[in-house]
Amino acid sequence: MAAFASIDDRLRHWIASHRRVFALTGAGCSTASGIPDYRDHEGEWKRRPPVMIQAFRMQDAVYRRYWARAYAGWPRFTAAAPNAAHRAFAAWEAAGTLFQLVTQNVDRLHQRAGCRAVIDLHGRLDVVACLGCGEHTSRSATQEAMAAANPHWGAEAATAPDGDADVEAAAVALFAAPRCERCGGLLKPDVVFFGENVPRGRYEQACEALAGADALLVAGSSLMVYSGFRFVRLAHEAGLPIAIVNRGRTRGDDFAALKIEGDLGSTLTQAVHLAFDGSSRTVV
Ligand SMILES: [Zn+2]
Repeated sequence: MAAFASIDDRLRHWIASHRRVFALTGAGCSTASGIPDYRDHEGEWKRRPPVMIQAFRMQDAVYRRYWARAYAGWPRFTAAAPNAAHRAFAAWEAAGTLFQLVTQNVDRLHQRAGCRAVIDLHGRLDVVACLGCGEHTSRSATQEAMAAANPHWGAEAATAPDGDADVEAAAVALFAAPRCERCGGLLKPDVVFFGENVPRGRYEQACEALAGADALLVAGSSLMVYSGFRFVRLAHEAGLPIAIVNRGRTRGDDFAALKIEGDLGSTLTQAVHLAFDGSSRTVV
């Protein structure tokens, strides 16, 4: 425990003080796994904004560019492994007082770290849905189909949060975008694109969980996307205590009684370890 002596004790106390915590996590939770964040510390876009759903559906060039980047970025995206923050949430859930985790991330790293009560608010990137017939397939199968259809295509790329990558326009023009093998329809990863709403049932499931919570923790999200921010508003309206751990400003700062700016992995790991003292019993 000596190694933890210098940490900010407020988060440990906050965690130890609540019995049914609802946690909301965002891109900042996965940056240490090599999946970069879209936004900087002021909440502004760091790079080009992500693909909008309307353009994806309507414009062949946008569809082709999306899939070319997704194809190039997939190997790096799938190589990402859970980091200390994901493991800390899993340990906290196992200790019994983190009862629902809702993530804006589509990488499934919380589940891979061992978290069970996870709602993928924005969907999951490892599943592909056909916009024509509704058929769902695995993203890895789509990757194989794209590899077969583009035997000589290659692009050096840097990965973005939704698994796509920067690819030269000339290379994009040569890319054969995938289509549904059953109906020929457009394929889309089973994630909520910008311009789309979170499916109602999924949202309601998260709201129900929040209604049964006694506190809200936001971790690694600037809350600039309303689908996440609305949980802060709901928690605030319900009178729940709100804590935020994030590098940089968030849209929810004015609602949080506790705001910690720091490295999410080490901050959360230390707080969870100290709150539970390595056992499932709370040490206040
Ligand atoms: Zn189809």
